[in-house]
Amino acid sequence: MKWSWNIGRIAGIDLKIHLTFFFLLLWVGFSAMFSGGGALDVLSEILFILALFFCVVLHELGHALTAKRFGIATRDITLLPIGGVARLDSMPEDPKEELLVAAAGPAVNVLISILLFGGLIISGILTQPMNISALLDNFWLRLLAVNISLVVFNLIPAFPMDGGRVLRAILASRVEYDKATRIAVNIGRGFAVLMGIAGFFFNPWLILTALFVWSVAGAEARAVEVKAGMKGLLVRDAMISQFYQVEDNQAMESVFQLSLATGQQHIPVVSNGNFLGIIRRSDLLIALDKLGNRAPAYTAIGLEPQGIEPESPLQDVLPEFRTSRVQPVIENRQLIGLVTPESVQQRMWLNKRKKQIGPQPPSETVNPT
Ligand code: ZN
Repeated sequence: MKWSWNIGRIAGIDLKIHLTFFFLLLWVGFSAMFSGGGALDVLSEILFILALFFCVVLHELGHALTAKRFGIATRDITLLPIGGVARLDSMPEDPKEELLVAAAGPAVNVLISILLFGGLIISGILTQPMNISALLDNFWLRLLAVNISLVVFNLIPAFPMDGGRVLRAILASRVEYDKATRIAVNIGRGFAVLMGIAGFFFNPWLILTALFVWSVAGAEARAVEVKAGMKGLLVRDAMISQFYQVEDNQAMESVFQLSLATGQQHIPVVSNGNFLGIIRRSDLLIALDKLGNRAPAYTAIGLEPQGIEPESPLQDVLPEFRTSRVQPVIENRQLIGLVTPESVQQRMWLNKRKKQIGPQPPSETVNPT
């Protein structure tokens, strides 16, 4: 996430803090000050927020460490004013596993609540006579209250919040995964609208959460739809197999001419049939400017992607597009095709149409005899 800083590393997961989180601390500090609090009050308010977010980190670690048990890594955990976000590499597609990963977060807050409650009982805070306002001001009692509300809030079935993921997992054990996601997303968006309206009357923080739920739910629904559309397709199915390539020592000028004449934006470079890399249009212009017309083609290579095998599932190419929008398809060290987001999109569109039309009956061949 942009505007966030690393503040540590737990169990191999980077812990980050978002710039807006500091605004939350400032806001909490200032509101304590303006409500007539002394330096001690301000400090205690800030300490409270830090303790609360420590519980949030433990909550996110609950998700991350459970996911790790199912072989899913977590890139990082970022603290935002609306809570923590653990970026898992993927979500388990097995509904049982997703249920466990989703439930592990709130389960951590249940555990913290039990510990806090036990501590409050043992220390006698709950049992000794105290007036209500002193009791409400108690640091540990407030921490217990927010942990309980974290459990309750997270279990609202508003996908992609934890309760929504639990709901999707339960639905997915009955209907197809993408249908389960659609239902969970619609319910989630319904809750987001309610939350947004409630936010106007009670707490602006709810509006932020509603916006988050709305947008992330939509993004996840699209991702699931894309995955469903790619089911059964291989890289070979979506690859561009007719393209031009150049030899490593060919002059830059002729590469430019080729690109101009064919309209091909990405020109692969080979050496004796072995794939070396790709020259993108932007690489080409820069190289022409710096190295001149006569420079050999290989000096303009801007990308040396690993390449992807033609028999890999098509969905494997999606994360690769993050580094480059053109991926070479390599078979026995030979370049046999290129995959781009556009070629993938076209193949999926074709697939969808075929499904709508239904399987075609085999055409009859008439043999003139
Ligand atoms: Zn959670």
